[in-house]
Amino acid sequence: MNWKIIVLALVLLRAVWDFVLNRVQYRSANNPTPENLKDVYDEKTYENWKRYSADKCRMNAVSTGAVLVVTVLLLVFNVHAAVAGLFGANVYVQMLVVVIFQALVDALCSAAFNYYDSFVIEQKYGFNKSTKKTFVMDQLRGLLINALLSAVLMALLALLYRGMGDWVVLLFTGAVFLITLVISFLAPYLMRVGNKFVPLEEGELRTKLQKLLTDHGYQVKEIQVMDASRRTTKLNAAFTGFGKTKTVILYDNLLNAMDTDEICAVFAHELGHGLNKDVPKLQGMNLLNLLVMAVVVWLCVRIPGLHEAFGFSEVNYGFAYILLGAGLGIVQPLTSLVMNAYSRYAEYRADHQAVKEGYGEALCTALKVLAKENFAHLAPANLLVKLEYSHPPIGDRIAAIEKAISGK
Ligand SMILES: [Zn+2]
Repeated sequence: MNWKIIVLALVLLRAVWDFVLNRVQYRSANNPTPENLKDVYDEKTYENWKRYSADKCRMNAVSTGAVLVVTVLLLVFNVHAAVAGLFGANVYVQMLVVVIFQALVDALCSAAFNYYDSFVIEQKYGFNKSTKKTFVMDQLRGLLINALLSAVLMALLALLYRGMGDWVVLLFTGAVFLITLVISFLAPYLMRVGNKFVPLEEGELRTKLQKLLTDHGYQVKEIQVMDASRRTTKLNAAFTGFGKTKTVILYDNLLNAMDTDEICAVFAHELGHGLNKDVPKLQGMNLLNLLVMAVVVWLCVRIPGLHEAFGFSEVNYGFAYILLGAGLGIVQPLTSLVMNAYSRYAEYRADHQAVKEGYGEALCTALKVLAKENFAHLAPANLLVKLEYSHPPIGDRIAAIEKAISGK
């Protein structure tokens, strides 16, 4: 079998898919605004939004094209094998060289487009808050995490596969799942790196948030405000910690943009996720997703021909990571279709919780504030929502909330 042609075809297929979706997105900017969202943007802001959306689409198309060209060139000319060939024959060294080389290529590509995104597009529309220094640090941090994570993962895979053979599918799934659990456990601590937290001051908001939690038997460890406004104008609230003890994190932007009831509404929505156990459920689905991924991983190390076609004399575990990218590029849209459908369902249910807590109206206005501040697409193409949206469009959410309020 000509593996080289097959891998290149997969890479190309994924790029075509991205171009098509990008095109659908581009055209959807002209969809009519839903009646219940007519008051979110004024005429001028809406025109501005259309230009913003078009700029983003154009940049994404260029970036997809550039990454495609780089990937195809590296693959056609067996560049990975050539670079690895410079560093001796040890399997782990060979792996490390390919991983680091690819991480550098990725970092250069993404740094160029992230720079354009932050300092040209986001800057033009007033979203960018990051300085060049923060930007460089963020990119370096990204490179380091990417290289480290892929090296650890592939070394783990190499060890397991050489020791266990085909059982690696199950073991690898288990190991990666454990790693994702550890990362989600560490996330609140990682957030602390480079951000400042202060406790929310006493007052109406603090009392109301605490009441929401204690009504449902949760203990509040802390309510903290994070200085996200240094990086972004986007709004967020999160709810971390395990078991019944929770730490609540509010972005300072949220406090500036919303009134007390609106913040409580956003928070009641998050509480809905907690009560419905949406996080563990999504983690369960993620486990299934990982199993599918593990099969792709397994194929990538099981078929030496896949490596020989690109100039290696045996299986290279670093290159397996790149093959994996090509394979997942095709598999991932299918699995995310299922996960996104569930996630959208969970969003409606969490909104419903906010209605039950008496914050239905406040959630509607909060969603409009969010839409406005995040410069959201008010009328996204149905196809894109089905394929890619983890949250339903705001107009649909508001319609569902209003229906729940009138039916209560
Ligand atoms: Zn949600």
